[in-house]
Amino acid sequence: MGVTDLGMISQVPKPMRFILNWGRRYSLWVFNFGLACCAIEFIATSMSRHDFIRLGVIPFAPSPRQADLMVVSGTVTDKMAPAVQRLYEQMPEPKYVISFGACSNCGGPYWDSYCVTKGVDQLIPVDVYIPGCPPRPEALLHGIMKLQAKIGDEDWATRGSPEYPAFERVPDGS
Ligand code: SF4
Repeated sequence: MGVTDLGMISQVPKPMRFILNWGRRYSLWVFNFGLACCAIEFIATSMSRHDFIRLGVIPFAPSPRQADLMVVSGTVTDKMAPAVQRLYEQMPEPKYVISFGACSNCGGPYWDSYCVTKGVDQLIPVDVYIPGCPPRPEALLHGIMKLQAKIGDEDWATRGSPEYPAFERVPDGS
């Protein structure tokens, strides 16, 4: 049980909540659920040229149990779907999901395949959608910053309620 557990954080004063959210948004351990070519783009974005670590994003969490953020990058097949759900369930709260690329968003080029899940949001809740096939590294950086803004504004009293912003979408061509 941590201070960010649902119920406790809504009781802390607003300035303290700002500091807690500020700390959480800049220390995101990432679990990369790489399923196809988009996973390479994710790895490229963590390298020195684009370097998402400077945003406070720490790649390659040892396991989902140590991760705050899951990035689903690649084609989700129906056979893989139970594993995606299971690993998401293993992540501790508070947890976030970025859907990275057309395949993960909606099935992408394989949308009419009998064995492809038509979007990872059919399995788990998604916070940020990043379009593209594959998306550019800049789009992932944009998506991370959108997620960080969302975490910074997070009010745990309304998390999961209709007032809570369900998801963000990165504009095409970022
Ligand atoms: S969106 Fe395009 S690049 Fe990404 S996994 Fe699908 S086919 Fe590959």
